[in-house]
Amino acid sequence: MARRFGLLVLMLSACLLAPLTAQTPPAAPQPITAIKAGRLVDPESGTAALNQIILIEGERIKAVGPNVAVPAGASVIDLSKMTVLPGLVDAHTHMAMTYKEQPENNYYYLTYVMESTPLRAIQAASNAIQLLNSGFTVVRDVGNNALYADAALRQAIEQGWLPGPTVIPSGPMIGSTGGQFWPTPEMYKQHNIMFPEYIDANSPDEIVRAVRENMLFGARTIKLCIDCKPWGYSVEDIKLAIREAATGGCKVEGHVQTAAGAQRAIDAGIYIIAHGNALTPDHHRQMAEKGIFLAGTDTPFTPYRGSEAAFTRAVDSLRDAWEKKVPLTYSTDFDYWNDRMKDQKTGQWMTRGELTIEFLRTWKAAGIPAADTLRAMTINGYKAADIMADRGPIKPGFFADLIAVPGDPLADIDALRTVSFVMKNGMVFKRDGVMAPADFFHPGPVRMPNGRWTR
Ligand SMILES: [Zn+2]
Repeated sequence: MARRFGLLVLMLSACLLAPLTAQTPPAAPQPITAIKAGRLVDPESGTAALNQIILIEGERIKAVGPNVAVPAGASVIDLSKMTVLPGLVDAHTHMAMTYKEQPENNYYYLTYVMESTPLRAIQAASNAIQLLNSGFTVVRDVGNNALYADAALRQAIEQGWLPGPTVIPSGPMIGSTGGQFWPTPEMYKQHNIMFPEYIDANSPDEIVRAVRENMLFGARTIKLCIDCKPWGYSVEDIKLAIREAATGGCKVEGHVQTAAGAQRAIDAGIYIIAHGNALTPDHHRQMAEKGIFLAGTDTPFTPYRGSEAAFTRAVDSLRDAWEKKVPLTYSTDFDYWNDRMKDQKTGQWMTRGELTIEFLRTWKAAGIPAADTLRAMTINGYKAADIMADRGPIKPGFFADLIAVPGDPLADIDALRTVSFVMKNGMVFKRDGVMAPADFFHPGPVRMPNGRWTR
């Protein structure tokens, strides 16, 4: 009986597999695009080469150099008066969380209560388009994203439904009892208020389960609350999460808000530490030694956010981290909005991309050279996002993600405020300063690895 059943399963599988194989279409010829770059920046070395040609076949870069032959029939994009560089990275943001002064008085508990996952996912999609428009081709989206709105956004962009950066989602933050909330007993025990903003995980078994669930539901990184509560994670707890995350190919970021928590994260060998506030010069020294990335979330002081005192602390901390050679990433922790977020000159609302690029103010105030800021916004961001195998740098074989600006960001980092060309996966998203994303929209999935979509 058992053998017959086994045979039946085998026959059934053969039936199911056969049509899939038979329906695989022959590889269509890929469109060829040649970009003429007046200057091509290599952020790794902080140098630029003049008059380069970037040849793109389909989604990927085929060749780069001064004498690359342009095949007949290739479409040519002339950026010979521009500086071309790889796309930018926000290494710590929250695209599906926007708390406001009205109605929730900036309490994100209320945002969570009042805004559904579908609504927040749609806002995340809008934010994704706004970020891509400002040249951000990669974002790490690390928690407070309702019920996996971040993972859904990643899947939607990857399947070809809409344009957006490559999203590295974490799913809900994993923490010990309470996460970052201080709920009432009835909200906690009777209404399960923690989930999905946080997953409570208090023991080794619960930590393993939480990490696995996030990866099952589409996370590409794991985010831990190291010390959101006095009963935070031990070095052993963090090491366990790192080991478990590695089984699914994920690296771990730790939210840190105390000096003791920072030390435990460093001792455990965490991949990224988020928030610079609690870090001491000695932590910076250790992070540099161990190669731990910093997502400092260095908020500038503007008419719509921050204080002079907090800004001074952020600037001093970022400066010290840079001097100690910590691998720095550009990061914002963006998750808020208010009606003062307007361009001072034009009076127009600022986009999510423009608000993100405003964080350059902190980097400039810290006196960090443009080349190092650009490295944080590109190479270090790709490494922190763990995508360097095939995305990021402008090199043959890599996905064609690139941007162009009229100025020279190696001389003046504010040149990045005027991104006039954006290409993602070989498709033009923005040209001559105008969004033209028609190529990105498809009614069904157009990218399905191995013939089926996988989370
Ligand atoms: Zn954050």
